[in-house]
Formats: sequence, C-alpha cells, structure tokens
Amino acid sequence: MNHWTKILAAGAMAVTAGSAVAEERFITIGTGGQTGVYFVVGQSICRLVNRGSADHGLKCTAPSTGGSIANINAIAAGDMDMGVAQSDWQFHAFNGSSQFEGKGVPKLRAVFSVHGEPFTVIARKDANIASFDDLKGKRVNVGNPGSGQLATMEVVLAAKGWTMADFSLASELKPAEQAAALGDNKVDAIIYTVGHPNGSIQEAVSTVEANLVPVEGEAIDKLIADNPFYAKASVPGGMYAGSPDDTPTFGVKATFVTSEDVPEDVIYQVVKAVFDNFDRFKGLHPAFANLKEEEMIADGLSAPLHPGAAEYYKERGWLQ
Ligand code: GLU
Repeated sequence: MNHWTKILAAGAMAVTAGSAVAEERFITIGTGGQTGVYFVVGQSICRLVNRGSADHGLKCTAPSTGGSIANINAIAAGDMDMGVAQSDWQFHAFNGSSQFEGKGVPKLRAVFSVHGEPFTVIARKDANIASFDDLKGKRVNVGNPGSGQLATMEVVLAAKGWTMADFSLASELKPAEQAAALGDNKVDAIIYTVGHPNGSIQEAVSTVEANLVPVEGEAIDKLIADNPFYAKASVPGGMYAGSPDDTPTFGVKATFVTSEDVPEDVIYQVVKAVFDNFDRFKGLHPAFANLKEEEMIADGLSAPLHPGAAEYYKERGWLQ
C-alpha cells in the first residue's frame, strides 16, 4: 500500500465509521422502589447499554416506579419499552388471568429472568408474630399500589380465605417508607417480594428488633402445587439481624419483559449488553451473584421470548 492508497483507505474507514453511528433512540426500563433490587436491575442494564451508545445509538434510562404491575401496564400502554416484573404477574398479564382478567397483555414478551424473590414478611419482635396466621388483627403494610407484593399478597389472602379486613390496618406505603414505618411502630409487619440481601430490610432490622416470618401451610402448599410460577423458597439464616435460621416461604422470579412492539434490534442490543458483559453485570448486586445464563433464558418465563432476545441466544448457541 503506497502513501495515497493509505490515505484513501483511512478516509473510507472514517466515512464508514461516520455512517455507522446510529440514530439516537431513548429507551426506558420500568423498575421498582429506589430501595429495591428492580431499581438496581434497571440501572445496571442501562449502564451496560449506555457504554455502547456511540455504536448503537441507544440511550437507556431506568426510573423508579411502583413495581411489577405498574411496569406491565406501562409496557402495555407503550409508555415504557421494558420493565422488571415478577414471574407470577408476567404469567397472568400474558394469559389474561387473575388481576389481568379481561385486560390481558398478549403483546407482552419475555427477555430473561433474573434473581429469585421470596415472598418476605418482616415483623416487629414486640408484635409476637411467629407465623403468617399471627398477622390476623395486626397492622400490616401490604404493599404500594402497582407493586408485585400487593398483588401477590391479595392472592395469598384469597388462598387463605382472608381479606384486607382481617388486619386492623392494611397500609399501602412504598418500600422506601415501610422500613421506617416498622421502626416507628406505625405497623407491626411489612410485606416485600424482593431479592436478598435487601438494603431496606437491613435498615428495618437495624433500627428495631424484628424477625422474618415463615409463610407456610396448606394454603401455600396448594398455591405452589397449582401454579408453575410459585416455588418453595427461603431467606437464608443470618442474612438479617434477628433471623439466625432459614425462613421458609414461597417465591417467584424477577423477570425482564418487553412488548412485541419494541423493535428486534433494540432488544438484541440490550440483551447483548448484558450477556457480553455478564461478569460485570453479576457484580452489580449480591442478588445477581449466582445467576446462570441457561436458567435466565428459561426459568420463570411464560410469555414468548422476544425475537431480538432469541436471536442473541441462538447466536450464543443457547437456543436451537
Ligand atoms: N417484586 C417487587 C414488585 O414486583 C419489586 C421488588 C424490587 O423492587 O426489587 O413490585
């Protein structure tokens, strides 16, 4: 290559690089309360996506939201492109069952699942709550409107033949407020379907003596037997002050979902950003530490895979 062909070649490369700069496109991920793990999921995915903005043009933001139900509704309305949602609500939204009866979201698409979320009950020690049944007559924060925990709590109550009226108070504070409410003796117990370890629960148990409450019994066993998206789960002993032993309960998976209306190349780039940088992703929250790719592309997913995600998984040889 002589001097001139070198210069011409360099010029051609610059032109190619210039025209390869994709148009800017803003994408949003619905998360949950700022003290939850969904917020970290969304922020982490966006951080990895935004490292490649110069190449693919995507600019990702992940605002705090009400949680699972709020995210699915925002995706259905086209207000958000993606979101995090519990596997039980992904199932019901796609199939138009439970709370989504008559308002199913058939265009909901699965992308991958993330961490497990035990249905977690934390009570003040002085409220003497040793089992779920002891919650009867107590002041309980049942979860904010739009959250997965409120929706799943309603399922649990129905399974037990209870209603919200079985509590002396059923408050709907957000995750960020409920730890303080427990500490200030405004409620006896709080409900949170969330990955562990979780900062707001750590905060709650450090300001007041509190214990995790087992959620077991016939009604729970039947829920698990009847529904593929529920499984036995436990919160490891020693994770939180006041709960030295494993606490049995049931749980779901946190899942990452989108709509069939979101273009294939967008979801492809998002999934690629996560799995091309998987070790980095797993380091962004302790609840992600044990994630495995093969489980993430199968477990907890009931809506069809978005084609942009499937394309990347095929490329990696994870899907046929
Ligand atoms: N599982 C909760 C929900 O669906 C959110 C938990 C979190 O923010 O990590 O609303």
